[in-house]
Amino acid sequence: MGHVIFIGAGPGAADLITLRGARLLATADVVLFDALTDPGLRQFAPNARWVNVGKRGFADSTGQATINALLIKNANEADVVVRLKGGDPSVFGRLEEELEALAQAGIACEVVPGVTAAIAAAAATQRPLTRRGAGRSVSLATAMTREGSVHASRSADTEVFYMAGRQLAALSRRLLAAGWPGDTPASVVSRAGWPDQLHSDHSLTQLAQASVLHAGRPMVVVVGAGAKPLDDAPAALTDTRHAALQKSKP
Ligand code: SAH
Repeated sequence: MGHVIFIGAGPGAADLITLRGARLLATADVVLFDALTDPGLRQFAPNARWVNVGKRGFADSTGQATINALLIKNANEADVVVRLKGGDPSVFGRLEEELEALAQAGIACEVVPGVTAAIAAAAATQRPLTRRGAGRSVSLATAMTREGSVHASRSADTEVFYMAGRQLAALSRRLLAAGWPGDTPASVVSRAGWPDQLHSDHSLTQLAQASVLHAGRPMVVVVGAGAKPLDDAPAALTDTRHAALQKSKP
């Protein structure tokens, strides 16, 4: 019987995987990968069998059950099965279900961390998530509940929302209701870590304006201390669409 290595692929471009992740990926017989991972990662394991098990948003229970079953089946047939996940496996990656299924089947696992989207967004915008004095805590949150409604609160100085792309107006309303002032900075970064990453700035009240620019792209919304531009910061991103948006800034 083989074992399963969960590897965080990082948020985008293939070279954002860790050295350990790349080395272990090279030992794979089979790779079960997510939709958001870079095809360029195949160069690290060209002879492995690559299986796309990608899904977006909440998978129905059959989707997750199928992935669990595939992990167990492959671990029974191959020596090294890599489960490659976008970003970090421990952040909104359904890791608990997969670890539990493998533990029940008596299959050994290892987890290799990766760069999560919130961290890639901070690097893209050159805006640290923590700030001395003003930003003492960071929360990684999903706005979407399992039932599909939007939930948001005020629990940290900097809050980073995942999977909120289709719900920006509702997220803005919820955050205002939770006590965030309307002029709180909100920074949206889509495809952070990819060559075509995009960034736009908003006040919390105007957050919904980001929907058009970032439509259809994976994005995180950074709210509060960590969204604030540094004094005299140069424009970090050069995409032309970004330049166009700057003109219509709130
Ligand atoms: N495990 C992943 C998150 C998976 S959930 C991680 O650690 O990053 C999928 C959500 O992650 C997307 O809806 C989006 O909110 C966010 N995301 C993933 N890749 C991203 C990227 N390159 N840029 C911005 N957000 C991203």
